[in-house]
Amino acid sequence: MSARMVLLGPPGAGKGTQAARVCQRLAVPAISTGDIFRANVSGGTPLGAQAKTYMDRGEYVPDSVTNAMVADRLAQPDASDGFLLDGYPRTEAQVHELDAMLARDGRALDVVVEITADAEAVIERLLKRATEQGRADDTEPVIRRRLEVYAEATEPLAALYERRGLLVRVNGIGTLEEVTDRLMTALASRGVGA
Ligand code: ADP
Repeated sequence: MSARMVLLGPPGAGKGTQAARVCQRLAVPAISTGDIFRANVSGGTPLGAQAKTYMDRGEYVPDSVTNAMVADRLAQPDASDGFLLDGYPRTEAQVHELDAMLARDGRALDVVVEITADAEAVIERLLKRATEQGRADDTEPVIRRRLEVYAEATEPLAALYERRGLLVRVNGIGTLEEVTDRLMTALASRGVGA
């Protein structure tokens, strides 16, 4: 059985943390575009240099760059039967691009999960992470911009996937374990399970 999943949710909702936990249980790769960009930034690659100028401002990296990177990653053998995309798609154009990438190999998404959390909770988490991890884009003005861009460009994707019958919403407020359990239950309700 396949497990091709997308995780939506605002910055600070806990996507990265939960993606890792869910993927361990389902034995599929977690693919985070943010992590891939950050690895390229620290590795000093041309892709990293290009992405950094956008990331530091809280803006989205251009689709041309992001789509090619994701297509590459999804073509790797470990992603053939399943994956959890964290941070992609983020724009409607990326949704259509992802559809096309998957359709080329006769694949399609199984489920889209939106982790919900109110703005106050996510700002608090991101500011806490800023002091712990020192991520370049976790300063207050950039956090505010990331939330704005999310609301404008990415939040509407939940409704789009809902119309396709693929969306499940999960409350992201709770302990790590509580949220993982909710996610596993939500996935199981769509036939995706360990
Ligand atoms: P967060 O969701 O907490 O903002 P991410 O690690 O997912 O953090 O993303 C960090 C940054 O990487 C984004 O602000 C954006 O600049 C860039 N990025 C990640 N994924 C995408 C994407 N799908 N399209 C465009 N830019 C992206």
